[in-house]
Amino acid sequence: MPRRGMAEETTAGLLALPGKAVKLHHLVKAPENAIESIRIRESWNADEPATVYTTPERMPDGTPCTAATVILRTRGCQWWWKSGCTFCGYFNDVRDDVTSLNLHAQWLAAKEQLNDFEGCDMIKVYTSGTFFEDEENPVDWQETVLTETAAMGKHLIVEAQAHLCHEEKIAWVAEKHPGCTVAIGLEAYDDEVLKFHCNKGFRIKTWKKAVKTLQSHGLRAKSYLLFKPPFMSEGDALQHTTKWIREIAEDSDEISVNPMNIQKRTIVDRIFRNREYRPPWLWSLVQMIRDVHSDIHPEGDEASTRLIVHPTAAGSIRGAHNCGQCDKEVAAAIERYSVSGSLLEFEGLACECESRWAAEISLDTSLPIPLGSGLDRRLDAVEALLSP
Ligand code: SF4
Ligand SMILES: [Zn+2]
Repeated sequence: MPRRGMAEETTAGLLALPGKAVKLHHLVKAPENAIESIRIRESWNADEPATVYTTPERMPDGTPCTAATVILRTRGCQWWWKSGCTFCGYFNDVRDDVTSLNLHAQWLAAKEQLNDFEGCDMIKVYTSGTFFEDEENPVDWQETVLTETAAMGKHLIVEAQAHLCHEEKIAWVAEKHPGCTVAIGLEAYDDEVLKFHCNKGFRIKTWKKAVKTLQSHGLRAKSYLLFKPPFMSEGDALQHTTKWIREIAEDSDEISVNPMNIQKRTIVDRIFRNREYRPPWLWSLVQMIRDVHSDIHPEGDEASTRLIVHPTAAGSIRGAHNCGQCDKEVAAAIERYSVSGSLLEFEGLACECESRWAAEISLDTSLPIPLGSGLDRRLDAVEALLSP
């Protein structure tokens, strides 16, 4: 009985405050209507895409190709407006007043910049959310992109949240652009991590259902995993992600592992600045690839999936990094592996920081080490142990 009395008083975490309990995430995430947030969001031209570039890629059948990536400025992810993932800074590129006309203008500008995608067999259209969600992107614009890319004979990749892959909508997408790829930010194959580390907004059960729906309409499923979500040690990230890759390989045509890069004004940015989080080591990614390679490329058999790792901002303090000396070479080898699928890319890579990384992994997996105590390149070891 006394416990019930306490519960009535304690309504906001540890402090006895009146009112409804609030998630920590909502207390610290960037407030969407603060003057600063609005100023950033409104500083750009809604008729121009955020970024357009080309990269080497592989078609679904494995043939090397050039891919165009078009990142658009949209109304953004519904989930972010409601709550949002703990690591996602896409809100910096979104605004709630983007219209169909703006999006058509951005699409036109992207085509002009890349000469109507000449020489590109694959087009990735990224909208900072779910491409085929009607509140986020006007339906007529979705249709333009799907039908135009299909008519040009390009392979299209769009992104979605798992719980938005509804049967009816997927059937419509498959009719407009048969065989395209839908990439889902699964992040972690673990409900606890999805809820408490990522605040992802869906569970793995929903992801499984989404993959089934895509497959039943002949669409390809690509899965993103997040290497080292917030509130996780380096050692745990390595063990978990390796296990998750093996578990989702069968259901994913491609797996893209995204090592955490710290985007401004996110939860992970907050704990990073408080020295409670260090972005992943590049060595951990090399180790992860070495560990899973034989599982996804069984000898004498076809590969069960394709593993891609593109470390964004590799080598910088906010991206996956090593000691500062070997970063460029190690990141380049990881990038090459994503295209070639060959472990030979890592032959001869060595640096004295590898043993420090190995010690960190070993400590993380054997002792209750405080989060964020990994090697910090900017500070000396003693200073790093002092309070921020
Ligand atoms: S679902 Fe995607 S776009 Fe939306 S908040 Fe999460 S990571 Fe960002
Ligand atoms: Zn090094």
